[in-house]
Amino acid sequence: MTIIRYQVSKPVLQGNERAYVIDAIDSGWISSSGKYIEKFEESVSEFLGIEGGIAVSSGTTALHLACEALGVKRGMKVIVPAFTYVANANAVSYCGGTPIFADCDPDTWNVTLHTIDQVWTSKTVGVILVHLYGLPAPVDKIKELCNQRGVWLIEDCAEAFGASILGKKVGSFGDVSTFSFYGNKIISTGEGGMVFAKDAAIRKKIRVLKGQGMIPGKSYWHPEIGYNYRLTNVASAIGYGQMEDVEYHLAERVRIAETYMNYLRPLRDRGIIQFPAHQEGYENVYWLFSILMTEESDINRDDLSNILLKDYGIETRPFFVPMHKLPMYSREGIALPVSESVSKQGLNLPTYSGLSNENIKEITGAIKELILG
Ligand SMILES: *Cc1c(COP(=O)(O)O)cnc(C)c1O
Repeated sequence: MTIIRYQVSKPVLQGNERAYVIDAIDSGWISSSGKYIEKFEESVSEFLGIEGGIAVSSGTTALHLACEALGVKRGMKVIVPAFTYVANANAVSYCGGTPIFADCDPDTWNVTLHTIDQVWTSKTVGVILVHLYGLPAPVDKIKELCNQRGVWLIEDCAEAFGASILGKKVGSFGDVSTFSFYGNKIISTGEGGMVFAKDAAIRKKIRVLKGQGMIPGKSYWHPEIGYNYRLTNVASAIGYGQMEDVEYHLAERVRIAETYMNYLRPLRDRGIIQFPAHQEGYENVYWLFSILMTEESDINRDDLSNILLKDYGIETRPFFVPMHKLPMYSREGIALPVSESVSKQGLNLPTYSGLSNENIKEITGAIKELILG
């Protein structure tokens, strides 16, 4: 049996998380009422500088509520990245809409103004944009395009909590923005998410939909089909504790990424691997530090990943499979060449608070040994 010495990711709960969870249990408020829900919503809203955060059960349910509140219905076409986590396309599908896939940029791995424009048609009703692996996508420019053409923009910030463009945090650009607090995200509640909406009416709609469509204050009056997408007070207690340490967790990721780059720079300089893009004014929060294996490398991505795990106990994760390669979203004749190649070459390396420089030296030592032979 392989002993995993370095997981690719893990939650680090070393502040008041435990005390707040015990307090929630002792108070009897373990379900979806209780003081920690509001405290968590307020602390996230304050940190991001966006008002009105709505805590929900996951990043996926946040996206579903966003699509539904913005009116996605059968036959509507929504542009989503081809290279992303599956939740974006699924959220559109839950509402009966059709996701249309935009390719990504070979350096940033994010969608661009150009790749969005390429797949735009008169049927486009909205765009879901994702900031992958912590690096902001050019959301300012894409929002402008959406405004010009009169469609809405959802910003999926699941992987980019705290990232910013010219000092403005991601999540503050979209008409609706979503976050995830899954166990491997920068801030975690186990399972959880949050939605922000600029428009007060949309915000109200999301609150109603997340609580079975019930109008607040009117018991058992459900004028429309809603969902139970609520976050518990216990999960919120973890999140509130995490938020007290948010600056630490963000600083840790920058340190970890810089240390990886220091040790791996020789491979990058020889063109064997590619680093995350550095863009002026774009602050990357390095959710998972990632590299791309280029054609210059003698060992392929999957072999490297397998040997790192088997012989060194170092867990890594391959990049997402692009959406149009999944059975339910595959379509005849669709070519998204950059997403396809990035997906085959990319690898996430262990990234979590507390991973020491010494640990990173060891991990990168193994990578160099395997790549350089
Ligand atoms: C993690 C993630 C989600 C969904 O999060 P869950 O909380 O697991 O539902 C959505 N989008 C992206 C890009 C993600 O990385």
